[in-house]
Amino acid sequence: MSPLQVLQTHFGYSSFRLEQEGIIQAVLQKKDTFVLMPTGGGKSLCYQVPALIFEGLTIVISPLIALMKDQVDALRLNGIQAAYLNSTQSYPEQEAILNKARAKELKLLYLAPEKLLRQDETNGGTKDISPSKFTPSSFFNTILSMDISLIAIDEAHCISHWGHDFRPEYLMLAQLKRSLPTVPVVALTATADRLTRKDIVEKLALKEPLTFISSFNRANIRYTVEPKQGASEKLLNFLGKRKTESGIIYCLSRASTESLANDLRSKGFDALPYHAGLERQQRFKHQEMFLRDEVKIMVATIAFGMGIDKSNVRYVVHMDLPKNIESYYQETGRAGRDGLESEALLFYSYADVTKLKRFTQIEGNEAQTSVIFRKLDQMAMYGDLSSCRRKYLLNYFDEPADDYCGNCDVCLSHVERVDGTIHAQKILSAISRLQERFGAGYVIDFLRGSNSAKIQDDHKQLKTFGIGSDTGKEEWNRIIRDIAAQGYIMKSEGAYPVLKLTPKSIAVLKGTEKVMITKSKEVIETQAAAETIEYDAILFECLRLVRKQLAEEENV
Ligand code: ADP
Ligand code: MG
Repeated sequence: MSPLQVLQTHFGYSSFRLEQEGIIQAVLQKKDTFVLMPTGGGKSLCYQVPALIFEGLTIVISPLIALMKDQVDALRLNGIQAAYLNSTQSYPEQEAILNKARAKELKLLYLAPEKLLRQDETNGGTKDISPSKFTPSSFFNTILSMDISLIAIDEAHCISHWGHDFRPEYLMLAQLKRSLPTVPVVALTATADRLTRKDIVEKLALKEPLTFISSFNRANIRYTVEPKQGASEKLLNFLGKRKTESGIIYCLSRASTESLANDLRSKGFDALPYHAGLERQQRFKHQEMFLRDEVKIMVATIAFGMGIDKSNVRYVVHMDLPKNIESYYQETGRAGRDGLESEALLFYSYADVTKLKRFTQIEGNEAQTSVIFRKLDQMAMYGDLSSCRRKYLLNYFDEPADDYCGNCDVCLSHVERVDGTIHAQKILSAISRLQERFGAGYVIDFLRGSNSAKIQDDHKQLKTFGIGSDTGKEEWNRIIRDIAAQGYIMKSEGAYPVLKLTPKSIAVLKGTEKVMITKSKEVIETQAAAETIEYDAILFECLRLVRKQLAEEENV
């Protein structure tokens, strides 16, 4: 059977999604393959289809026991011979499954990675074990004696310290690969920046892998941010227009999911709460009702969603700020899996950032706290954007994107992007002349030639002083947020963040990169004014000084 026939007869889908076909071809040609595809993209089929075509057994390494069971149940419903092995099963159960595999009665065998390790090494203390110290389990050797056609490693980022979910047992997989050098390996993940990617390939000892990187763009999701003030009214208005549609509303606390669900029901909406504090049975019931379209709205904490596979979720609303972009992307990604138009709506207030920082501070672990804070700041920046939100999300995942997507609130409000290089150069040269030691407020006052005594005393003599007096304070703030979101300015951490230059800003100062910003009256007037010689001359003089300084630093 061809891959397409397998897809249609065994899985009931009519066609492959974007990269699936190429990946499956590579796997069938027994090439080592690396797959980066967003959650919900359809990674499973990339090994399930080949598994049905290959003669022998396909081993699937998967770290989450609950998801393993779901997948195997789903395969069995499709009449596919699949089983899983993990530590929740009794010894006789495990033996029975192995016997089936030996008798070639299985096409797919899902394995928890710790099954490959000797028992006493799987419990505790494995944090800094190096792979050479691992002892294979007897089970490991049993596997080697079977007729294996393919090894699929799901959630492959778990092998890397750079990823966010390192699991030492995964290091054992390199040994598996070495022991079965002719068996192709397909490694799959949804979260891997460049560093993690390289690490995965090295640690798994993949041989010249074919790499498939799918776009993270979810073109059918419209991203919108609304100020949090008046959120309840706005939510009612939003839901009122979508009474027949399914959606998820995420709240930060369990209590607020209950009160909001109650409130919505009292206003005639079909809503139920979901959070980890509910009775197991009730939680399960609410989830099932949502999946079967018996209730339209799930008001939930982030406990809801892992492994939920409902294709017609039309909207995902966040009442509170998620703690990082990864979570936001994943949660909003539950909308529109069927490819139809869907909404992601975030109610945003900076007060949420402050609140979350208070919650998530980890006593005595400053390094970890600072990572959490930085990710929160990046999330806040998303809320503050005055440029395309999709571009920001995609760039966050290392993916290039156009300036306009045409399907986020910013793009849809018809903001035009215009050349804002002059403004950017003014800000950046001010930051540079002030030696990257001041926050946005001070930089703006300095640019505007403020009368404040401190600025007069300390910095009035600098050429850059006052070169931005033609632009208002608010507007400067907006422009700073705009170009910071594009990576031209960095904010330091801490209670009083100062503005800093980045490698990207150097190119702007040197005049080799143009900066696009949101159009406004002031931006356009400045750009026009800069064309008059006199004005340009002052800025040029400032830039000349900054460039000279940069050149000197480079020569050190
Ligand atoms: P991932 O592991 O990448 O998060 P899954 O493999 O769980 O994604 O797939 C997500 C959903 O997409 C599942 O419901 C799956 O059945 C569906 N799906 C995958 N490929 C296709 C396809 N070619 N056509 C239709 N649905 C698909
Ligand atoms: Mg998956």
